[in-house]
Amino acid sequence: MKDAIRDLKVRQKNYFYSGETKPLAFRHKQLEALRDGIRKREKDILDAVRKDLNKGEHEAFMTEIGFIYSEIKDTLKNLDYWASPVKERTPLTHFGGKSMVYKQPYGVVLIIAPWNYPFQLAFAPLIGAIAAGNTAIVKPSELTPNTSGVIRELIASVFPEQYVACVEGDVEVAKTLLNEKMDYIFFTGSTAVGKKVMEAASHHLTPVTLELGGKSPAIVTEDANLKIAAKRIVWGKMINAGQTCVAPDYVLVHEKRRRKFLKLVSHYIKKWFGPEERRNRVYPKIVNEQHTKRIADLINPEKVFYGGHYDIDSRYIEPTVMVDVNLDDDVMGEEIFGPVLPIIFYEHEFEVIETVRQRPNPLALYLFTENKETERFIMDNLSFGGGCVNDTIMHLATPYLPFGGVGESGMGNYHGKSTFDTFTHMKSVLKQSTAFDLPIRYSQTPGSTKAM
Ligand code: NAD
Repeated sequence: MKDAIRDLKVRQKNYFYSGETKPLAFRHKQLEALRDGIRKREKDILDAVRKDLNKGEHEAFMTEIGFIYSEIKDTLKNLDYWASPVKERTPLTHFGGKSMVYKQPYGVVLIIAPWNYPFQLAFAPLIGAIAAGNTAIVKPSELTPNTSGVIRELIASVFPEQYVACVEGDVEVAKTLLNEKMDYIFFTGSTAVGKKVMEAASHHLTPVTLELGGKSPAIVTEDANLKIAAKRIVWGKMINAGQTCVAPDYVLVHEKRRRKFLKLVSHYIKKWFGPEERRNRVYPKIVNEQHTKRIADLINPEKVFYGGHYDIDSRYIEPTVMVDVNLDDDVMGEEIFGPVLPIIFYEHEFEVIETVRQRPNPLALYLFTENKETERFIMDNLSFGGGCVNDTIMHLATPYLPFGGVGESGMGNYHGKSTFDTFTHMKSVLKQSTAFDLPIRYSQTPGSTKAM
């Protein structure tokens, strides 16, 4: 395996040096070929994610394929502009010079993807890698083997291996890939593995983007529109059965709105995920038995307000709401990554600030309020990757907002132009005139008086 991976890396590097990946016409053509290749295999992709995660067709299309189409479309539309060199101002001290920033691809890019949106999270970074003129090796997650197989087949049928290749496999394969000196590493996954990726990258000083996870809070203030808050929190939490990096992990609700908020939350869960919907089999499964057990163990039956049932063998966890949760309960330990929603009630704003600050910086934060001052207060005082006011998750579905974490939820960002920028080195070049040579610049040099 080690030799095959080294050989692939060397072939990709040589292909990169051939210069073929750089012309804009080539990059356009590859992105179009990728789009057409996906279009041809839409059914296979939907079948694969259904087999791996039991995702319903509508949800799978929207979150796995539709997102990729819109990213490709946006990139094709803007690529020439994004890739063009930028002329910058030149200070008087550099008189006679011209300052340029050239958009340079890194070379061979490694993309390591997780299982929760197994198709989207492998291809969204690949779009930027291609657009920026790199070659790429994609390693999908081994926990979603059907989708991994479709990714391999799709990549092999659209691209030659020396340009874009898919390497399937588990942790050992990922480690072997990381031992090679890559030119850029784009990792999406857990914070724990993100640390290992960064450590491996440090041996070669390879730049990294880390798209990680964390416990993302939703805050519902006293003046919030409760109906909207409950509806959008339930939707954001339960989509993909809670296996979304930016799912609201827990909710902080003002004590005075307790009864009404809980009533609305159970209303929307029943409406969308009641027994009838389950019979339609559109409710996603947990990825494997081990994760199902992990999530089930977080449910404290004494604190269950809604749901609480599970079945490890069929990888099922009922949409569950827990109330009166304490900060030291198990469910408030690590990222839940499942359809369990703990609710904590608060009386004063400072409790919200303390609760969020006591944990690692979250990937997302969702604030539900009608008060501009509260909005400003939270924005000014809490650090988080990104988020929404009066919504959940939707901030990642726009190409105009850079998406990424901060602190333990990650570093770097992507989506839209940011994906192109991520895979691009901004090469700054000062071109100086030879028509004249001002003596003053040499005045600090020893012997400069003689030289003048
Ligand atoms: P994971 O970290 O277990 O695995 C991700 C990838 O890393 C897989 O391809 C896996 O094979 C590989 N891997 C595992 N161990 C490795 C090691 N020791 N060295 C190198 N590579 C290794 O994550 P996961 O369970 O697949 O995904 C869930 C996590 O990902 C959650 O924490 C979630 O929040 C996060 N996530 C983040 C984003 C984001 O955009 N920020 C998106 C999706 C998921």
